[in-house]
Amino acid sequence: MAKLQPPRGTHDLLGEEMRRYAHIIEKARDIFRCYGFSEWATPIFEDTRVFARSLGETSDVVSKEMYSFLDRGGDSLTLRPEGTAAICRALVSNSLTQTLPQKVFYHGPMFRYERPQKGRFRQFHQIGAEFIGANGPLRDAETIAMAKDFLASLGLENKITLELNTLGDAESRHAWREALIAYFSRYKDQLSKDSQTRLDINPLRILDSKAEQDKQLLGEAPLYADYLNNNSRQFWDELRNYLTAFNVSFVENPRIVRGLDYYSHTAFEFVTTELGAQGTVLAGGRYEGLIEEMGGPQIPAIGWAAGIERLSSLMTLDEAAKGGVALLPLGDKALLRAIEITHKLRQAGIKVALEVKGNMKKRMDRVLQSGASHAVFLGDEDLTRDVVQLRDLAQREQREVPVSQLVETFKQV
Ligand code: ATP
Ligand code: MG
Repeated sequence: MAKLQPPRGTHDLLGEEMRRYAHIIEKARDIFRCYGFSEWATPIFEDTRVFARSLGETSDVVSKEMYSFLDRGGDSLTLRPEGTAAICRALVSNSLTQTLPQKVFYHGPMFRYERPQKGRFRQFHQIGAEFIGANGPLRDAETIAMAKDFLASLGLENKITLELNTLGDAESRHAWREALIAYFSRYKDQLSKDSQTRLDINPLRILDSKAEQDKQLLGEAPLYADYLNNNSRQFWDELRNYLTAFNVSFVENPRIVRGLDYYSHTAFEFVTTELGAQGTVLAGGRYEGLIEEMGGPQIPAIGWAAGIERLSSLMTLDEAAKGGVALLPLGDKALLRAIEITHKLRQAGIKVALEVKGNMKKRMDRVLQSGASHAVFLGDEDLTRDVVQLRDLAQREQREVPVSQLVETFKQV
C-alpha cells in the first residue's frame, strides 16, 4: 500500500502546533470570561440548509467550497464551513431567543473545499464569538475590544491592525448598491468572470474580489460613506467614539465588506502584513437577519471569527513543553522505589519522566534533550538511607535530598 498521508489541505496538529492551539484557547477563555461570554459547542456537521440559506446561495463558500454529502438516510448534510450560522441555529433550536443577550464563543475545525496554500486549508480551525441581542453600537465596540484583548494576550498587538468600515442600514446600502451596479456595469467587460456574475447577484462582493483585474477598477468605485443616511451616520459615529473609549485604535478602510445581505453597519478585519496574501487573521461584523433565517425572530447580533492556524503562525514560540524532572534509578529495587516517588511527585502536580533504559550516559542524553530542569538519581546505597541525588541541570550542581523533602524542594524551584 502507498504511504498514507493526511487528505489534501488537512494537517495533523502535533507537538508545538497543538501546544499553540491549546494556548490560544486558554487565553481566549481567560479574556472572554471578563466580557461575560460563555462557551458553546455545536455539531461538526449540520443540515445543509443551515449554511446554504444563511450564507446565501451565491457566496463563494456555498457555491464552491462546501463539503456536502448525503448520509445513509438520504439527508443532505454539510461539514460546517463556519461557526456563526451554527450558533444561530443552536440559539433557535434550544429556544433561547427570548433570553437575551446571549454572549457566546466557540472553537473547532471548519471545512472548505479551497485550493490549499500557505495559510489556507481544507480543514482549518477557528475561534469565534457572537454577541446575540446586540442593541446599538456599544455592543459592537465591546465585542471588537474583546477581539483586540484576545490578540494582545497572544503577544500579537504590534503585528496586527484593526481595519474598520460601516455598511450602514438597509436603506443606505440599497442606494450604494445601485451606484455600484451603475459603476461596474460601465466596465463589465473588464471584470473577472466571477465578478460579472456578482454584478447581477451581489455587487458588494466585487469589492472583496481577489482578482487583479477587479482590484484595478476599485479605485474609482463609489464609496459607501457618500450614501449613508442619518441613522447610519449616527451609528458609525457612536461606534468610533466607543472604540476610542475602550482604547481600541483602528484605521478606516472603505473596502472592507461582508458580502451577505444580512450584514449591516459594522464590518471589520484584524490584518497583518506578515502572512502574505492570507493577511486577514480575524474578521467580523454586525448581522441582523440571520436568526430569522433559522426560524427565529429578528435579533441583531455582532460577531467575529479568527483562523487559529493564522494566529498560530504569527506567534513566537513559548515556554511549551520544557521543564520537569527526570528520575534515573539504578537497579531493580531502586526502580520500584522510583516508581513510588514518581507517582507521589505527579500527584503533587510536578511533571516527571522515568528514564530506565540503557546506560547512564544514554539516559542522560535523553534527559538533556527533553529540556528537563532536574535529574534525580537513585541507587541501592541511597535506598537504605531514603535519600536521592538531585542534580540541577542548568546550574550543574548536585546535592543529596531526603525523599520526604522532594515535593517541597520542587515546589520551591
Ligand atoms: P479569506 O478572504 O482569507 O478567504 P474569508 O473571508 O473566507 O477569508 P471568514 O469566512 O471571514 O474568511 O473566516 C474568518 C477567518 O478564518 C479568516 O480571517 C481566516 O483567518 C480564517 N480562514 C478562512 N478560511 C480559511 C482557510 N481555508 N484556511 C485557514 N484559515 C481560514
Ligand atoms: Mg474565503
